Amino acid sequence: MEYTPSAKELSNFPFLKNSKEYIRQKYPSLDNLFSGDRGEILIKQSLNRIRDALFAKRKYGEGGSSNPEDNIASYALARVIISCLNDRQLIERLTRYEAEQAYQAIVNEEQWNENFQLEDSGFSRLCTMVASELGISIKQNQMPLVDYIELVSTIHEDRFRLVNRIVTKGQVQINEFEMYDLLRERIRVITQRDLPIKVPSVFCEKIAPHLAELQKVYQEKMLQQFGKIEESAFPPCIQALINAITSGANLTHPGRFSLTSFLHNIGMEKLQITELFARAPDFDREKTMYQVGHIIGGGGTEYSAPGCAAMRTTGLCIRPDNLCEQINHPLSYYKIKKKRMQRSIKEKKVE
Ligand code: SF4
Repeated sequence: MEYTPSAKELSNFPFLKNSKEYIRQKYPSLDNLFSGDRGEILIKQSLNRIRDALFAKRKYGEGGSSNPEDNIASYALARVIISCLNDRQLIERLTRYEAEQAYQAIVNEEQWNENFQLEDSGFSRLCTMVASELGISIKQNQMPLVDYIELVSTIHEDRFRLVNRIVTKGQVQINEFEMYDLLRERIRVITQRDLPIKVPSVFCEKIAPHLAELQKVYQEKMLQQFGKIEESAFPPCIQALINAITSGANLTHPGRFSLTSFLHNIGMEKLQITELFARAPDFDREKTMYQVGHIIGGGGTEYSAPGCAAMRTTGLCIRPDNLCEQINHPLSYYKIKKKRMQRSIKEKKVE
């Protein structure tokens, strides 16, 4: 008999086609989602969802709504809101959070799903359906090499490197828990792929105060997270850009953009960033102020610093060191290095 997931099952995986269809029937247009008292409630739930993603506070099963319809609708609306903000880091935080929620739903399924049913493969019926929609067959504890390589291309953990895997006749051996990890990664990639979506400006304008508040909260969080600026903890790529300015070279547009957005993300003010560009021999204050202002949000869009993959594409990943092998974003490099430096200062004081 064909298996049709319940609304509760779908609400744990709101990115599935069936979930989207379910909510489309209830709310045929974006206007329906936004309107009236119901719209207000859904907007509030969606904003909470984004805040949870930013602060990673909610554990699986805590908070949220017990109404499956609201859960799916707030997922869809959170994507609309985050698209209005159009900030890559916020998008990344939200999609990581959604992938983690789905992962927790899978590994804890027996606790919440009264329709839980185990298949001969050892995976549940629901998990098998979710995996299949994501293009992954989990019927056996193995995966074709080509699919595996594609799936792990965004994972930097040693245990997933091909040299550390058993490969037999073109199939990579995977245990149950690794399969769940791979599913989580696939969900993250798929939910991130089409963001930001194009949202008519009228909707973004309608929720402008909420957007401003979210941005403020996020910026404060970043400042708390990064604290005092420590130039010696900058990653090699950022150091190289600063050295280039100091030695009188003209930065390319991606170079200016990467440096400015990085410095802004770690909490540097517009004036401070501009002063850094003042190290260049052909420094033009007015022009620099304008360009910096545009990148840090003066044009309505606040840009996030590019990740390592994008830096490599633009030729800006220069002299990566050992720490670079463990991270995929210059901001993560900075955070880790700064922590290590602080720890070693503390240890020296104790000695
Ligand atoms: S790996 Fe990343 S952090 Fe390291 S130098 Fe390259 S872009 Fe910078």
